[in-house]
Amino acid sequence: THIGVPKEIKNHEYRVGLTPASVRELTADGNRVTVQSGAGAGIGFSDEDYRAAGADLSDSAADIFATAEMIVKVKEPQPAECRMLRPGQLLFTYLHLAPDPEQTRLLMDSGCTAVAYETVTDARGRLPLLAPMSEIAGRMSIQVGAVALQKSNGGSGVLLGGVPGVLPGKVLVIGGGVVGTNAARMAMGLGADVVVADRSVDRLAQLDDLFGPRLKTVYASADALDRLVAEADLVVGAVLVAGAAAPKLVRRAQLPAMRRGSVLVDVAIDQGGCFETSHATTHSDPTYIVDGIVHYCVANMPGAVARTSTEALNHATLPFARALAGKGWRRALAEDPHLLAGLNIHDGRVTHAAVAEALGHPF
Ligand code: NAD
Repeated sequence: THIGVPKEIKNHEYRVGLTPASVRELTADGNRVTVQSGAGAGIGFSDEDYRAAGADLSDSAADIFATAEMIVKVKEPQPAECRMLRPGQLLFTYLHLAPDPEQTRLLMDSGCTAVAYETVTDARGRLPLLAPMSEIAGRMSIQVGAVALQKSNGGSGVLLGGVPGVLPGKVLVIGGGVVGTNAARMAMGLGADVVVADRSVDRLAQLDDLFGPRLKTVYASADALDRLVAEADLVVGAVLVAGAAAPKLVRRAQLPAMRRGSVLVDVAIDQGGCFETSHATTHSDPTYIVDGIVHYCVANMPGAVARTSTEALNHATLPFARALAGKGWRRALAEDPHLLAGLNIHDGRVTHAAVAEALGHPF
């Protein structure tokens, strides 16, 4: 199969669909890979690295879209990219179509077949191509929270790890899923005093098994959260109710009970946020202050660590990319129900039940 990797054109997107390491595996399988010049330049993957891995380079996205049978990207195609997609061509990338009727229409009109990373499933019913981004956001949440606690950023001036003779900072992680587990691991690594709150008793038991007595777990009743939020130096919001807006778990009325300069990091902001006072921010201006409490609510946290994100995403996507290219997408989808769950658009129609329902399309 001829695979094309265009340079991402969305503002401040430095990730790239395939790393040189992935290109090497795909070309070793007998595929041809064409990468747009400069596609990995922002994160240290040079054209020379891609050439050494077996890719051809092209200066023109239009050429890549016109000739490749399969396009591998990171972000949803922008309108100009949608217009270059063709009938019979396979697109493999994040799409997030449910809130995006314009993109859906353009993809339907293109006649392409689109497999969305975010709806591919695994044997345990999880979303394996979304998990790496949650791991990254979870780990980053402590790093950004620690910086926000510094006085110059409006913070309370607490060092999360403490020092000998000074107690460590208190971190409350609400939601103990992929984001929350990774946040807890980083916070414990820094030496903070960490509590994870969840509504799933099973999940709390798993975390207890995983981390032992260094991690405290608590059932996320409103009562427990009231008390723990007031004591925390850093609260990480990491809840998810699949398919629904995040529940508001910290109200504005709770903020005065916190020490001034304490920090809320709302990772769930991409689902509307789990703090009443959250609104989405960007990497260029990530924090703001409400009632003396610093808020960090960046909706695309992994974009800030684009090199690590690209590598982690590739480890999850490569087996699927190899199957799609090696068997041809028809056979690959027919043989793997989890990959088939990723099929969102085919032959001018929306082919994913939940996406179709969200958009009001017939299915
Ligand atoms: P997950 O499904 O693995 O975990 C969510 C956890 O929240 C589950 O353990 C669930 O039991 C718990 N939960 C649900 N309702 C709760 C409640 N009322 N109180 C306490 N716990 C509750 O999800 P995840 O992968 O960890 O993702 C968490 C959120 O982070 C999602 O909204 C996801 O979209 C978001 N996210 C954001 C970014 C970003 O850049 N901002 C990046 C990745 C993921």
